[in-house]
Amino acid sequence: MATINPFQMAQQQFDEVAQQLELSDNITRILRWPLREFHFQIPVQMDDGSMECFRGYRIQHNDALGPCKGGIRFHPAETVDTVRALGTWMTWKCAVADIPLGGGKGGVIVDPSGLSDAEKQRLCRGWIDQMWRNIGPRIDVPAPDVGTTPQMMGWMMDQYSKLIGSYTPGVITGKPLGGGGSRGRTEATGYGVVVTTREALKHLGINPNGCSASIQGFGNVAQYAAKFFKESLGVRVVAVSCWDRKDKTSYTYSNDDGIDYALLQSITDQYGSIDKAKAREHGIAIEPADAWLSKEVEILVPAAIESVITKENVGQIKPTVKVVAEGANGPCTPQADEVFRKNNVFVIPDILCNAGGVTCSYFEGVQNDMNYYWELEEVMERLDKKLTNAFASVLTMLERRKVYTRNAAYMVAIDRVVRAMELRGWI
Ligand code: NAD
Repeated sequence: MATINPFQMAQQQFDEVAQQLELSDNITRILRWPLREFHFQIPVQMDDGSMECFRGYRIQHNDALGPCKGGIRFHPAETVDTVRALGTWMTWKCAVADIPLGGGKGGVIVDPSGLSDAEKQRLCRGWIDQMWRNIGPRIDVPAPDVGTTPQMMGWMMDQYSKLIGSYTPGVITGKPLGGGGSRGRTEATGYGVVVTTREALKHLGINPNGCSASIQGFGNVAQYAAKFFKESLGVRVVAVSCWDRKDKTSYTYSNDDGIDYALLQSITDQYGSIDKAKAREHGIAIEPADAWLSKEVEILVPAAIESVITKENVGQIKPTVKVVAEGANGPCTPQADEVFRKNNVFVIPDILCNAGGVTCSYFEGVQNDMNYYWELEEVMERLDKKLTNAFASVLTMLERRKVYTRNAAYMVAIDRVVRAMELRGWI
């Protein structure tokens, strides 16, 4: 589905801003590539007694601001360039959110839906067996991403703790509640999408109440974005598009009067596939994959995978769309960006829009260090404050330099990372 290699896209985005900021060659060379890469095999004993070798990666892009931070993705189409891109974006995301962490990302080429729980557990423990010497609360802190869950983070934390001989909850975030996890982590990314959209609408002078949204994806990010759109802003979600595991294609599920996210959640399996018969029973229409893109809404939220809005399909977007909130990482290609720029669509770039997850992960690490856990209200309040401040920094940069929103967010991030590298004497 991807039309552009995501790492080339991440480098292209960086290059444009590096030029605008007139960064030196030395700084540019450091930041265009990850500082460290780990490529490894994970031998796993399968339930039938056979052995499979899975390909795993960990990319540590930059740790000038603090330990690397970023999820581990289990996906059959995982590539090292996707992991490199995601690791690079994590550096910028942590910097925009103004949290003292660097950028990293991990992955395994695997379809987790084809594994039993026992096989998944062995694969998670195997990932740690390969990487434990090079991660840690002060080195690199993984977290969940597409295809990985809080339970898997619990297994990984346990394996790391066993290997180093000391309970170390801060080695990994996104752990289950009661197992070192933070309240609010599950909701955090979707919540952040809604907080940043609220700020964008405020900036544009649009009242959210009465607006409608169309979302791609119905996984962790999209489900909570749908919930908080309705509960916090009164925004009607009229469509979600998601992958159907059995049919191996995606569909758009829509209802112009609004979809009840809780109902949809109740008929969605753990991998995000929706029960089509039950959806129809509840008056939800089932349309082709791309239908979510051409809905007459004010807010468009790609919250599934990368490189989905391209030069080929950006023309399908209706002029009613005022805000594109990038819940997913890298959903819009540079060619789509050009069209948004020309049409004055306010794009909330991924490194700002979906920074709620890593911000809450940072809170989780802080709570692990203190061994004291905050109430949900406290977590959500701190999240709101951090993301509102992050949005304000990007807006200030945008107004000062008169640049596209994505470039403004990159400028805020690059300034902070370069300053940290200077302070540490790297450059
Ligand atoms: P998830 O695995 O919970 O959900 C993914 C969703 O995408 C599912 O609903 C699936 O059906 C859908 N999907 C997959 N391929 C699709 C396709 N071709 N067309 C339509 N839908 C498709 O993942 P998630 O955690 O919600 O993450 C979604 C995106 O958000 C990813 O880009 C991820 O990197 C990013 N992100 C996630 C977090 C987080 O905290 N979970 C934080 C920051 C960024």
